[in-house]
Amino acid sequence: MKRSSRRIGALGVLAVATWALGTWIGAAWSEPAATSSTTSRERPFAVVLGIAQDGGVPQAGSRDDAGWSDAARQRRVACLALVDPLSRQRWLLDATPDFPEQLQELDRVAPVEARPGLDGILLTHAHMGHYTGLMYLGHESMGADGVRVYAMPRMSAYLRTNGPWDQLVRYENVRLEPLAAGVPVQLNPRLRAEPIPVPHRQEYSEVVGYRIEGPERALLYIPDIDSWKELDEMGLRVEELLASVDVAYLDATFYDNGEIPGRDMSGFPHPFIVHTMERLSRLPESERSKVRFIHLNHTNPALWPDTEARRTIESRGFRVAEELERVPL
Ligand SMILES: [Zn+2]
Ligand SMILES: [Zn+2]
Repeated sequence: MKRSSRRIGALGVLAVATWALGTWIGAAWSEPAATSSTTSRERPFAVVLGIAQDGGVPQAGSRDDAGWSDAARQRRVACLALVDPLSRQRWLLDATPDFPEQLQELDRVAPVEARPGLDGILLTHAHMGHYTGLMYLGHESMGADGVRVYAMPRMSAYLRTNGPWDQLVRYENVRLEPLAAGVPVQLNPRLRAEPIPVPHRQEYSEVVGYRIEGPERALLYIPDIDSWKELDEMGLRVEELLASVDVAYLDATFYDNGEIPGRDMSGFPHPFIVHTMERLSRLPESERSKVRFIHLNHTNPALWPDTEARRTIESRGFRVAEELERVPL
């Protein structure tokens, strides 16, 4: 999308209102009543496009998984989109292996003419579920033109110096935009993204979460982290992060030890949902209710409604993220 086309005149405002109204219908999660319906339609929002761990649900090799024949038992890889209805801009947090379906979903939620119609992709790290969707921007697929890819220094260098990703850079399908730890990037006049370094395996890149700030509300996105304790040791407490936002999407890869038969999972480098709930249990309900668990492994029982895991999570004041839910910002 060209910058000049984002200017909005009187007719444009009407068109945007219609666009926003049209896309509001059928939302899986609608926002609380705002003071003015026009204002609520114009607010930027985040929409969840996937809640699964990198391997997706069902996962390759899970031969008996009901998801192979039942769409209701499928979940896409963790991904959020940011949408500004006024400027008709859209961004993705991470580019997953499910990029084609997620872009299609985003086109349904907030259609634009341009292809891919993305004002940027903000990457968290170089594990397969979080960046390999970039391949669809390349020569063999969309042949995109200069899509901004926001990345930390090692992540940028990784893309620039390793095939096949370096070709995306050389052919200018993507344009790398540098990020620095803790330095917010102004995505547009109404939306800001701050990369927050978190402890997690760093074979190829740094690992960050994001704090996204809109005109009225903020959200946190940390799909992958080794432990909250290691974050403490970096001088940052999850409770403080939670206090600084209205909604927090947090790593919920596994529910509890024992969900993978025959494996001792106690050394797995993710905070189990039960441990995160335990740690946050002393916070007031208003803080716990900000948490939406995301990045669930295909073995995680909390993926599914009507499970004991899901009932426990909800009874303790937390939630599991749902695909297509929206967060007004
Ligand atoms: Zn991941
Ligand atoms: Zn990871």
